Amino acid sequence: MSLQCPRCHSRRVACFHQAMKAGAAIGTVGGAARGVSAALAGGKAGGAIGALAGPIGVPLGTLSGAILGGLAGGVGGCALGAQLGESLDRHVLANNLCLTCGHRFNLPS
Ligand SMILES: [Zn+2]
Repeated sequence: MSLQCPRCHSRRVACFHQAMKAGAAIGTVGGAARGVSAALAGGKAGGAIGALAGPIGVPLGTLSGAILGGLAGGVGGCALGAQLGESLDRHVLANNLCLTCGHRFNLPS
């Protein structure tokens, strides 16, 4: 960590990653919602596949299809949200704060 304030050149600089956390949270919620609809679709597909295996295959197929669909949707949504939050963090919000003069700025990277 060799951050420096562009105004007073102090090295006492704090970093925030609020946008990334918010983005990940939003993405997780969105992903979970998408996961639910994916789970419903997966459950239907699983049930149809399970029906081929006989009466016991229907609930088994529905369950495994729903679990797989939900997991895939949730994980995908979270990754997407974190990515979105990170780019917001990097390009839009000032996430560095100088503890000496109070100046807010972004990393020059
Ligand atoms: Zn400063």
